[in-house]
Amino acid sequence: MTDGYETADALGGEPDGFERLWTPHRMVYISGEEKPKTSAPGEDCPFCRAPQASDEESLVVARGEQAFVVLNLFPYNPGHVLVCPYRHVADYTDLTPEETVEVATLTQRAMTVIRAVSAPHGFNLGMNQGAVAGAGIAAHLHQHVVPRWGGDANFLPVVARTKALPELLADTRKKLADAWATAG
Ligand SMILES: [Zn+2]
Repeated sequence: MTDGYETADALGGEPDGFERLWTPHRMVYISGEEKPKTSAPGEDCPFCRAPQASDEESLVVARGEQAFVVLNLFPYNPGHVLVCPYRHVADYTDLTPEETVEVATLTQRAMTVIRAVSAPHGFNLGMNQGAVAGAGIAAHLHQHVVPRWGGDANFLPVVARTKALPELLADTRKKLADAWATAG
């Protein structure tokens, strides 16, 4: 317990290895500040923009040939990453065979790395296809890899009171990127 805010490992469940809380970023998302105005590729699309900047700047964890792994700016849990093809395509059926394989391979690798870093109890994997299905950025396909801990859904209302700690996304990115090369 420091500075009057609660750390995740002081709550129910088990320490997650990140010791941090993330809900403030979700508040930005809810307010819509980062939502693209159009469905066009390019500067308006965060998943087209991300690979053009440095890993540190855009929170990229790993880069493949066809797809890359980036931290979700609005994580459900610490370590929540997105596997995105470089190409701006919306639908899973739009992926080439090569992209399909690499999205799957990077998803597997992300699970291995997150397990090594923070020992989650389980994962949710998946793609929301279309805004009606919950896709925040429907125009550019992205596969969610969400680590889960027992009781994690219960602590979200609790942590909503905590203050924003924006530097912590950078810490998480570095932990995952470092483990990407070595976790086995
Ligand atoms: Zn895009």
